[in-house]
This record gives sequence, structure tokens and C-alpha cells, in this order.
Amino acid sequence: MQSETIDLVSATPGHRHSLTVLRFGQRGCGPKAMIQAALHADEVPAMLVAQKLRALLAELETQGDLLGEVILVPYANPLGLGQLLLGQHQGRFDLHDGTNFNRHLPDLSETVRLAVQGQLGSDAATNTALVRVALAQAAAALKAQDPVSDLKNRLLQLAVDSEIVLDLHCDSEAVMHLYALTPQADLALELGALIGAQAVLLATESGDSPFDEACSRPWLQLQAHFPEHPLPLGCFSTTIELRGQADTDHGLALRDAQGIVEFLRRRGLVAGTPAPLPLVRCQPTPLSASEPITAPRAGVVVFHVAPGTQVQAGTLIADLVDVGSGATEALCAQSAGVLYARVATRWATPGTRLAKIAGTTLVRTGKLLGP
Ligand SMILES: [Zn+2]
Repeated sequence: MQSETIDLVSATPGHRHSLTVLRFGQRGCGPKAMIQAALHADEVPAMLVAQKLRALLAELETQGDLLGEVILVPYANPLGLGQLLLGQHQGRFDLHDGTNFNRHLPDLSETVRLAVQGQLGSDAATNTALVRVALAQAAAALKAQDPVSDLKNRLLQLAVDSEIVLDLHCDSEAVMHLYALTPQADLALELGALIGAQAVLLATESGDSPFDEACSRPWLQLQAHFPEHPLPLGCFSTTIELRGQADTDHGLALRDAQGIVEFLRRRGLVAGTPAPLPLVRCQPTPLSASEPITAPRAGVVVFHVAPGTQVQAGTLIADLVDVGSGATEALCAQSAGVLYARVATRWATPGTRLAKIAGTTLVRTGKLLGP
């Protein structure tokens, strides 16, 4: 294992942040995976799984069982990690301007399209290699003057030429679930089976360029732009939500890390025969059909359903108690599916998304992720 420190651009004299990057295997040798933890900095379970991965990967490397290169960023957001406000950790949004750390990653599609135009041929492997090099070059050329943009660029530079990108997050209170591109449903389901995902949410575009899609969508866009040339999707990239913020458990984290290593084995990065795939715990569902249970007004939230529960249309999800009138409003599901996440607070403000259900019948449009 090699440990590397990357200093980020500083916005304030005397105030500097740095990224720690752990490299396993040999650079440029075999398939490449990039795994990062807690881009929304207060996602502690993701950082614990990264530490379990660090130990497993170091052991594989020592045994000579690592057949590819794995980059592990054990805490992907040192800026957000230091954002404590009145005792509360604020890791999701940049306190300078309120932007979500996992949105508006650079979209390299157009730069890469121009770079490979006229060079693609009839061989899929050659085309894939060309695009991979062009992606790495486009990312390397990104420049930033502020720490947050620099952080996004640096992470993208580490990831964008990978075959596999695993972005480890967690939700507020949740069961294991993951997000991926619709055409990669099979891989998402395989990974989901290995880590026990209870929802696999698919979209071709979630909106506002989250990190996983900044790595995987250029391939989709290039494929669409050059239909006359064979070009497989060269990067499987996914956001894994490692349950809820309070779910730090050594046993669970180790099992999660072992599931991820099994996935790497199945992709040719780790030696050995893959174990039989566990039974899937869910079928993929469209992200556009994920139903938010939204608070229409302020009030006290009393949940009737825990994460992981299969609900039906009409199931009572929560009561919203109006502290002025005393009235209780029942908030019910419109669609059937697994309630995979809910908020950790019990005071609702108008418009708060209190819970999410992996349904199949709704058709939402526009930006599909929460703020
Ligand atoms: Zn997150």
C-alpha cells in the first residue's frame, strides 16, 4: 500500500486541507477501481467501511492476490469534515454557499467527444482504451481556484479512468441501497446481492451531475454520439448508501467490505474463484418511481414504518401532528415498494422529504435526487 497526500487549493492564507489517497496493487496494471468514502463528509459508516477495506486490500496485496489497481480515498471530503456548526456536523452542503458537495461535478463528455472524434474504429477494445485515455487527459486538464472545485476535480482525476467506481455514502436512517445507471442494472444487482441491498435505484440521468454519474455518464453519451462505432460502457459507477448515519458496527462494516471485495473478485481485480452469488433482496426499480413522502406543513413526525418495510399503496407511513391545532394528519404511500430511507429528525418543515419508497408506478421528471 502506498499512501499519498494531495494538498488542495487554499482559499485562505494559512488554511490548508489535504486528501489522503491509498493505492493498492500496481498503477496501470490490470483493471482499476476507485473507492471513496463520505463525499458528504458526515457519513461516518462509509468511513468505517473504508477502514475495513483498507485492511482487506492490504492483506490481498501482501498475498499477491491483487490483480488490478485499487485507489481508496478513506475520507473524500476533508473540507466538509471540518464543518461543525454549533456542535452539529454539516457535511452535505458547503457552508460558504450551500451547494451540495456531490453535485455539479465536471461533465467531461464534450471534451472527450472532441478528442476521440475521427479516431474511433471498429474494435471495441481499442475504442474503450482511446476513450479511457481521453477521459484521464480531460480530467487532468481541469483547473480550480477554490478548494471545493479543486476537491471535485482531484477526486474525478483519481476515478475517471477506472473500470469500477464505488462512491460510499449513507442516508439518514436507511437500509442498504444503491444508485446506478439504468443500462448497468445487471452489475448493480450483482453488487446489490453481495452487500445485501434492499433497493437498487436506476436512472440514465439523476440531474446536477453527482460524482458517480460524472464517471459513468460520459460513456453513455459517447455511445449515443458514435452509434457507428462499438463502445461498451467502460465504467461501472455507483453510489452505495451504507444504511443510516448511526449505523456504525464493526461486524456490519466488515461484511460490507467483504462484499465489495467479492465484487472486485468478480470483476477480475482479485484472484480466486468467486463464491456463489447470494440471493438478491430486491429487484431494481427506476429512480423516477422512487416516491418521496413529503411533509405538507410543519409538525411533529411520528413514523409508523421502519426502513426495510415493504409497504402497499395506502399504507400509513407517518403521522404529522400540528402543534398549533393539535390535528393529526396521516401521510400515506401512493405506491407499493420498500421504504428504504427516512429522515433522522422528527420535526418537519414544509416540503421536507420524510421518507423514500422504492416504487414502480410513479413517473417523476426533472431532478430526481434530493437537495
Ligand atoms: Zn451522501
